[in-house]
Amino acid sequence: MTLERQVGLLSAHTGGLTAVGGVIVRLGCAKNLRLLAHEFVHVVQYKRLGREGFLQEYIQQIAAHGYQNVPFEIEAEADAHKACRDAGIAP
Ligand SMILES: [Zn+2]
Repeated sequence: MTLERQVGLLSAHTGGLTAVGGVIVRLGCAKNLRLLAHEFVHVVQYKRLGREGFLQEYIQQIAAHGYQNVPFEIEAEADAHKACRDAGIAP
């Protein structure tokens, strides 16, 4: 098993990934606005900390909290939920 699968970063249910300013989504997920909003929050996080700063912090957060409790992921979920709610999109 690869490291990204061991820590939960990638799974059969992974819908999208963000790499710096690029968002990659699984085929069939391109219209999932909640997923896109989540990934766009990661773009903002990358911009806030820079590529190396974000990745360093993200890896440290996974090591400290486990992927499911990574503060960056919690922030992305909360901001995506709020953005969808504010736009009238069902979460
Ligand atoms: Zn995420």
